[in-house]
Amino acid sequence: MTTIDTAETPDPPLTLRDLAALEVGVLKGVGPKRKTALSKVGVHTVLDLLRYYPRRWIDRTREEPIANLRVGDEAMVVGTVRRIDQRRIRGNRTIVTATVADASGSLSVSFFNQPWRARQLPEGTPVVLFGKVDNYRGSLQMSSPVVDRIGDQTGKIVPVYPQSEKGGVASGDVARLVAEALRRSAARQIADPLPDTIRRRFGFVDRHVALSTIHEPEAMSEVAEARRRLVFDELFSIQLELVRQQRERQATEVGVAHAPNGRLTGALVDRLGFSLTSAQERVIDEILADMVRPHPMHRLLQGDVGAGKTLVAVQAMLAAVEGGFQGALMAPTEVLAEQHHLGVRALLDGLEVDSDTSLFGARPLRVELLTNAVTGADRRRILDDTRSGEVDILVGTHALIQDAVTFGALGMVVIDEQHRFGVEQRAILRDKGPDDGEPDVLVMTATPIPRTAAMTVYGDLDVSVLDELPPGRTPIVTRRAQGPDEESAMWAEVREAVSEGRQAYVVCPLIDLSESLEVRSVLEMHDELTGGELAEQRVGLLHGRLASADKDAVMSAFRAGDLDVLVATTVIEVGVDVPNATVMVILDAARFGIAQLHQLRGRVGRGAHASSCWLAGEATTEDGDARLDALVASTDGFELAEVDLELRGEGTILGERQKGRSDLRLASLRTDREVVGQARAVATELLDEGGEAVGRLLDDAAVLLGAEETEYLRKN
Ligand code: ADP
Ligand code: MG
Repeated sequence: MTTIDTAETPDPPLTLRDLAALEVGVLKGVGPKRKTALSKVGVHTVLDLLRYYPRRWIDRTREEPIANLRVGDEAMVVGTVRRIDQRRIRGNRTIVTATVADASGSLSVSFFNQPWRARQLPEGTPVVLFGKVDNYRGSLQMSSPVVDRIGDQTGKIVPVYPQSEKGGVASGDVARLVAEALRRSAARQIADPLPDTIRRRFGFVDRHVALSTIHEPEAMSEVAEARRRLVFDELFSIQLELVRQQRERQATEVGVAHAPNGRLTGALVDRLGFSLTSAQERVIDEILADMVRPHPMHRLLQGDVGAGKTLVAVQAMLAAVEGGFQGALMAPTEVLAEQHHLGVRALLDGLEVDSDTSLFGARPLRVELLTNAVTGADRRRILDDTRSGEVDILVGTHALIQDAVTFGALGMVVIDEQHRFGVEQRAILRDKGPDDGEPDVLVMTATPIPRTAAMTVYGDLDVSVLDELPPGRTPIVTRRAQGPDEESAMWAEVREAVSEGRQAYVVCPLIDLSESLEVRSVLEMHDELTGGELAEQRVGLLHGRLASADKDAVMSAFRAGDLDVLVATTVIEVGVDVPNATVMVILDAARFGIAQLHQLRGRVGRGAHASSCWLAGEATTEDGDARLDALVASTDGFELAEVDLELRGEGTILGERQKGRSDLRLASLRTDREVVGQARAVATELLDEGGEAVGRLLDDAAVLLGAEETEYLRKN
């Protein structure tokens, strides 16, 4: 078995793979209990431990005794919680107040609407507070300061490690274990496979120094240098793997070289009652340029809710149809597929395609719908005509990727709202192309991904951005409704909108992941509202368990204005388009993520009338509060996506499955955006040179990303 330290020195420096092969159990004081606790925070090996970076560093040289504080100071105080109380105040809100004392005096601290603070800070807890000192009824206080629990760590600069909710490993214990691991690696040192030329170009410290000083800095400037190097390593390993895969793919794939003639796309533009936004024109040009090339297109079309992505997708499919190919449009839900089908059909009604089998050399362009709800003779007819190529555009759900579906000449695949689709499913659809070439793929997403994140997650996709909304939209006003007073104001607004002829959505909380519970909660809410706040209004109900025909009936009634209010689960999250709906109520909003809330809100604000969105319920965590406040402050999806990344610690860019796993530890796609580009450039340069470092760097990347992530990047 490998050991970290040895008496002799001939052993080569430790690679990341060596460190990953050592269980944390080799460290002193790590018994079964601590091992379990560490594994809960993702630390299994010595490498995991060294990569369990501090969340913050407390520079104790800047500590201020409480007795020296003055009103207006921004200060750091180290003390102990002496007393903590929680009270309810008007409007069903809570306030937590604490007294924190050091040897010189005491200070009162208050937290507004953060009830969990009472549990976080029991009496006797040693804490560090950062915040602004103000005056409350004659005594000093800090209101909602940043709080760290540091335990009994000493030293000039104290690292604060992330604490898991369920406790387990105290920050000080992590620091001691890291110190031991570093001490025992000192003899062999940690290897640095990055070539000297690159290290010098960027002025990076070497990896051993970086991994040591991130944990045990002598000065904050050392933290900055260590961080700079480790951030690069994280982003570089992803880029190296992505560039390698892109090379591999370009060498093997053959696509369809389309031959669009502009007849159908031109005819569509002529019949629109509006002109394309310049962003739409630009993006359509980007897509057409890809389509005529013989390599398959892999393009991500990103645009905020309502930016007009569907029209872009339809133009791309029409361009394929012009050259005799078929288009497929895949949506994540039946409701959305049906809506796309209706929408696309209406747009294209009356257009004709060239045909040698028809007497007049032309036949009507054909758009069909395929979902699991399409059965029997209809289904057989659609499948046959898709195989023979008579169906020009097939719209559908996951049903499109079933074995029974064969296309005569699939040339363009559009996938809407990608976040709901597995990567495997995308690959299957791509494989349904003609024998002599893969179809082009356009992935549309309204889940805004900042460009830098897109470069990382979809590093092998080209990205087009629709960064302009069609003119004439009215901005949505977003408010929070906390407590009974504000909630009744919210329902009053719903009634008022309805009385003015508008419509509203009420989205119910996601109680549990279980669908049946979700259905029950939406049923209960429907009953409660129709018996109370919305007794006079016509209220419909929509959830995933309804039969398709019922869903259809409800959606059609709402679209036609025969229902005033639609109480729904998140089935309405994507794509539903009813311009007369102007109020969105999201109950228990803190249970949703930023992206989802933004999606839901995007269901209103689609017409000329002023729209509003209410986020109801109190948040139970600090992050929850911050998420809802972010929604109130901004309607810009790109801005929100960045806030989201920030709040989530960006732990999930490699996809749902990887939640909480290795992924990005230190890099911030928000603040380290230019490093993504640098890392990509270096990855390209080193792969082109093909020097001996490449093998070691790729091995590093494999270790850092882990098998699962590498596989994920590969399938994507
Ligand atoms: P997205 O899918 O990006 O959320 P949609 O494609 O559903 O947006 O478009 C939203 C609405 O805007 C639709 O009603 C569509 O007809 C309309 N629309 C699209 N492009 C334009 C444009 N250039 N000018 C005016 N309205 C447009
Ligand atoms: Mg859409």
